[in-house]
Amino acid sequence: MFDTRELGRRPGALKRLSRTVPAPDDLGTEVIGVRKGAELEVELRMESVMEGVLVTGTVRAPLSGECVRCLEPLTLEGFADFQEMFSYPDTDGPARRPAETGDEEGDEERLFLQGDLFDLEPVLRDAVVLSLPLQPVCEEDCPGLCPDCGVPLAQNPDHQHGEAVDIRWAALQEFAGSMRPDGPAGQDKQDKPPRGSGDDPQEK
Ligand SMILES: [Zn+2]
Ligand SMILES: [Zn+2]
Repeated sequence: MFDTRELGRRPGALKRLSRTVPAPDDLGTEVIGVRKGAELEVELRMESVMEGVLVTGTVRAPLSGECVRCLEPLTLEGFADFQEMFSYPDTDGPARRPAETGDEEGDEERLFLQGDLFDLEPVLRDAVVLSLPLQPVCEEDCPGLCPDCGVPLAQNPDHQHGEAVDIRWAALQEFAGSMRPDGPAGQDKQDKPPRGSGDDPQEK
């Protein structure tokens, strides 16, 4: 809960504050999220307006999860912006004209001040969850796991299998070499891949 008492209700009044709050339970997705109780660093600006308090801010959150390619644990710093209006409850009172109730969708999502307090948790939750990477990777060019045995390739750059695979690979090289007589196919492995960025999550 955040307190607006010091802000006052005079429209135009401003107050900034920084606070660290513990993360609520279940903040995240299956692959990445914030551990319960981890520290969320919240910086916000409260602005008193006619109908309530406009809250604008940022939240930093320590994320932990696992790389979708190599399944190694990873940690990232999450960062999200938010803006939310907390209305004074009395603006929704009997004095309200029927014409103002037209916007049903807006009404459903409306958040209200509870006395001088407002509950930022649902706002932080939405902001953090929306900012989470859908396909977190430990490194942009994480090579993932060996498709044959599941060994993480990043830690085993020279990883290869026994003769059975070598023979197949040699046959492939021979084949590739015969297709391109201008150079031995084996050297292609040393070259950087032509694609610059590793944006494609399917990239092997
Ligand atoms: Zn990885
Ligand atoms: Zn392997």
